[in-house]
Amino acid sequence: MEEEILRLKAEALAALAALGEAGELETFRVKYLGRKGQLTGLMRMLGQAAAEERPRLGKLANDVRQELETAFEAKSQELAARAGGAGGPREDLTLPGRLVPFGRLHPVTQVMEEVCGVFAGLGFAVAEGPDVEMDYYNFEALNIPPHHPARDMHDTFYINETLLLRTHTSPMQVRTMEREKPPLRMIAPGKVYRCDSDITHTPMFHQVEGFLVDRKVSFADLKGVLTTFIARMFGEGGAVRFRPSFFPFTEPSAEVDIACVICGGKGCRVCKETGWLEILGAGMIDPEVFKAVGYDPEEVSGFAFGLGIERIAMLKYGITDIRLFYENDLRFLAQF
Ligand SMILES: [Zn+2]
Repeated sequence: MEEEILRLKAEALAALAALGEAGELETFRVKYLGRKGQLTGLMRMLGQAAAEERPRLGKLANDVRQELETAFEAKSQELAARAGGAGGPREDLTLPGRLVPFGRLHPVTQVMEEVCGVFAGLGFAVAEGPDVEMDYYNFEALNIPPHHPARDMHDTFYINETLLLRTHTSPMQVRTMEREKPPLRMIAPGKVYRCDSDITHTPMFHQVEGFLVDRKVSFADLKGVLTTFIARMFGEGGAVRFRPSFFPFTEPSAEVDIACVICGGKGCRVCKETGWLEILGAGMIDPEVFKAVGYDPEEVSGFAFGLGIERIAMLKYGITDIRLFYENDLRFLAQF
């Protein structure tokens, strides 16, 4: 212990002697004399020394502190005098201030907030759930039993037999309905994972799942909510179409297209000359899903929808490669 204290003293005095600028004084003070400095650290350890040694070591440490503080004071004055001797303070007050670069929200976050904002305006509450999900919630309770062919479409990352990285945020439908009774209006935003990567797919992406359950909910309600969302997101008056589709957890199901935002419906490369862009999937919640959560499908009905945030962001900003979102190139990110 004694050796340690003396070694620290020698090291600190050498460091102090080497200081050339007043600006370095504070770093020195924090390192050796500060509350979390090395000398304070040693003094705290004195308690571990043998009882008969403690008084002597304590005095030694205090003496060293005194000595270092005196030397520090002297050095401060010496450096201040030197700076003064060189013609007053060294700051040039006529220099313009430095611009501090500031961060901004990632485009995916911006679009996520915009989407959630529109649905919040329509009375939807937000539910969040785990990224690591049980097979039961991700598939089984959503009417996708083991060996169902629809599982192939999901390219799932499995963790073990019963756990996986959720492939959609739809499990929150089941989790919420298990916990609460209708009427329900909920959106579930979050990250989802699929083993897939190319210019329109990344292994992790963001989804917003939404659902509404009440008595006598019809497909007309679904159309009303989704066309309102699309109008607020992409502007009033654009064409929208509902196309029959299939999802295991909704019946009937639809995919929803909007008139291509690039060509206005005339046909271009982005819409593959069709004039339409698919932006979300939706449908009336399948009675099997209601049975899984203990609701009576004769009593309640509802609809659900899901949309990919990256896809919406790509359409909104005319981005053709989804991977740009995740390369963290500031020249790209700073444009939003
Ligand atoms: Zn087009």
